[in-house]
Amino acid sequence: MQCQCSHHQVEVAVSAQVAHNHACGCSKCWKPEGALFAQIAVVDKNKVNVTANGDKLQIVDESAAIQRHACKECGTHMYGRIENTGHPFYGLDFVHTELSKQQGWSAPEFAAFVSSIIESGTAPEAMEDVRATLTDLGLTSYDCLSPVLMDIISTHVANNK
Ligand SMILES: [Zn+2]
Ligand SMILES: [Zn+2]
Repeated sequence: MQCQCSHHQVEVAVSAQVAHNHACGCSKCWKPEGALFAQIAVVDKNKVNVTANGDKLQIVDESAAIQRHACKECGTHMYGRIENTGHPFYGLDFVHTELSKQQGWSAPEFAAFVSSIIESGTAPEAMEDVRATLTDLGLTSYDCLSPVLMDIISTHVANNK
């Protein structure tokens, strides 16, 4: 995957297929210019390696659960990493497969945090159309994560009680 700089792109090699790829409407995920949704997936963090111009990376918000490593010049988020070993998704990195020129990444499976696009400026009246478009694309809309991922989080919480 490459950042959007025209020169000296940050390059990140992802050497495994991603899982749970989805469209995300939250305000934290990086989105291409003009996009309402990010496209974001997870992969084993041991399969993610910075291979070029890593000195251009900086963490967007050190206090966030997911530390998003972004290019200082173009702002593209290259990967998000969880350092808290107690987090339900510890061990998984968050990546944007659209930054890859390679084909064959698993396709988005659902849309998460759909209502949150209102917080980034989408008119509430537009939501019916947005949800209909997502449905047409075969993406079920959720206002949190998908049931499978919510179950993973709750299982983790239950096991830690
Ligand atoms: Zn860049
Ligand atoms: Zn998000």
